[in-house]
Amino acid sequence: MIIGLDDTDSKEGMCTTYIAAVLIEKLKAFGRVEGYPLLVRLNPNIIYKTRGNAALAIPIGMKRSEDAGPIKKIVIDTIEEMAVFSAQNTNPGVVFIEESSEGMKKDLARFSLRAVRDVLEIREAEELLSRYGISHKGFKNGRGLIGALAAAGFALTGLPDLTYELIAYREKKRWGTPRLIEEGSVWKAAAQPDTWDTVDHESKRIVFAPHSPDPILFGIRGKSELAVRRAFSLIKSEPLERYVVYMTNQNTDMHLMKAKISEVLDFRSYILEGTVTKPPRTMEGGHVILEIGDGTSAMECAAFEPTKGFRSIIRRLRVGDEVTVYGSVKEGTLNLEKLKLTALNQHESKNPLCCAKRMKSMGRQQGYRCEKCGATAKEQVIESIKRNISTGFYEVPPSARRHLSKPLVRFQEHQEGSSCAR
Ligand code: ATP
Repeated sequence: MIIGLDDTDSKEGMCTTYIAAVLIEKLKAFGRVEGYPLLVRLNPNIIYKTRGNAALAIPIGMKRSEDAGPIKKIVIDTIEEMAVFSAQNTNPGVVFIEESSEGMKKDLARFSLRAVRDVLEIREAEELLSRYGISHKGFKNGRGLIGALAAAGFALTGLPDLTYELIAYREKKRWGTPRLIEEGSVWKAAAQPDTWDTVDHESKRIVFAPHSPDPILFGIRGKSELAVRRAFSLIKSEPLERYVVYMTNQNTDMHLMKAKISEVLDFRSYILEGTVTKPPRTMEGGHVILEIGDGTSAMECAAFEPTKGFRSIIRRLRVGDEVTVYGSVKEGTLNLEKLKLTALNQHESKNPLCCAKRMKSMGRQQGYRCEKCGATAKEQVIESIKRNISTGFYEVPPSARRHLSKPLVRFQEHQEGSSCAR
């Protein structure tokens, strides 16, 4: 059986991953978790999300003859006991996949991917649930059924690319109090291979622990269970209540779609190729805006203030540079997660040189004249310029990274041929 669940938490507390962690413990009496519990991140632009738009799936191995009733009861009772029903935006959903067919797998694979890339309606989840007779329960408006079905769908059909996260949970009595984690041990853990985003070297900050009052103490992200466990073994902290190693679609770029600028829609995420059409400008608040065009249309791309040093890269771009941008679109602006500078514009039009000085323009389309000797020229000249930036990939720092965004260390991993795809 695959149990999918979502939308149990509020900004004031709780966390769907914690409910999943508690359920994993409770369900041990009924069967083993098959493989890994799945932590999936869905469309990061969904307005209903509490924080990171997470949804969970737990695959449980049980005998065909066994009665699924008691498992469903425990899951539903636990959600009823732990979910923050009082929060307006909390609409829990749980699904139980007990059987599958090829047609159902195909439809669920499509639905799950759309939940990461598109904006779905509750009705679409309900239609699939009824078409395939999938047992489920939606609380309040039932919106959580979207995430619950998407997570269960990924558990059934597999992830094309995946990573791992070990999440450590706090003792209940400490929720809402400052987290006690020995800083030196975190830097040692962060130096372990095949893990990322534990610390931010640019700002010299620890980024693997949230600041909200929820049950999570910290999370370690990496390439394999071994890698995250190795780093975890070095962390010195307050006592843990429990920890879970999840398989995830985090840091895979699963949300991004290749498109032309004219095809772009709000609340979706894209990879766009284009040429810089306007010089970067810095806005009030320190946000840097860049405009690119691709012949079909033009669009503004933003490196917001929290992206820190990444903004200085964007400021160095010039009109005519060729780039590929990666990020989500909101209100017609692409929020930059990464940028690949593919070709530099190393030329500039300048007034011709004469008598060791630049000629002066004689007016629009009137040509140029040397103020000293009176010589004239019809047109500007094209000169090479030196640039203080090279072609290549640039990314936001770990402190500003979105859950789904693939860090550059993972691009190297793929070039080495050690893909995580299964
Ligand atoms: P946390 O990360 O703290 O667990 P959250 O950010 O995951 O919280 P939720 O409380 O799960 O936020 O709320 C997200 C809601 O949006 C859920 O009801 C989920 O079913 C729904 N949802 C997720 N993806 C989509 C989508 N692509 N289209 C429409 N609704 C979606």
